[in-house]
Amino acid sequence: MESESCQSREASDYPDADPKEQAVLISVGAAYLATALYTMWRKKPGLLPLWLAAVATWATLPKYLICTRCECYGKPCDFTYGGRYSAKLFKPQPDRTVDVYSLIAEGVPGAVAMMLPFAVARKSQGLLTLFGLLSLLWQVALIKIACIRCVRYSTDPFKRKYCPNYKIAGALGSVLREGI
Ligand code: SF4
Repeated sequence: MESESCQSREASDYPDADPKEQAVLISVGAAYLATALYTMWRKKPGLLPLWLAAVATWATLPKYLICTRCECYGKPCDFTYGGRYSAKLFKPQPDRTVDVYSLIAEGVPGAVAMMLPFAVARKSQGLLTLFGLLSLLWQVALIKIACIRCVRYSTDPFKRKYCPNYKIAGALGSVLREGI
């Protein structure tokens, strides 16, 4: 059980991503991307430009539509330092808010980037198993490293309103209270 002073110190530090945790999260994401790139290149090279375009869109458009309007803009946030990364690309937009279209702009390219290689690998048991394991690892790492602290400390209403992982982490948090 944490003391109140410990919790308030953590809250005042938020976001303060831990470098070791970020190394784990980024490594899992990089492993998924490397496996996806290999799959597209070897099995469906004609669709590789589409996949690369989806990855590039996912890595930039949400940074403009979401991160520039987030409380963590410019800061070392727990989602792969996205706040710092977005500040290198775009100016802040504190007067604008994140809406459902921002989330769609992130979700569509993100789904293509993740699911297209999965579909291309459907006849390879080995690749499917690897994608399954990496997806599971990514979700667990994401919730443990980023989402739980987001639920605990973030104040942006859009996260509570729209983010599915926020809802999952919130539900898990009430079950696993002692472990987080
Ligand atoms: S918490 Fe999420 S939305 Fe906010 S800056 Fe970081 S990556 Fe972007």
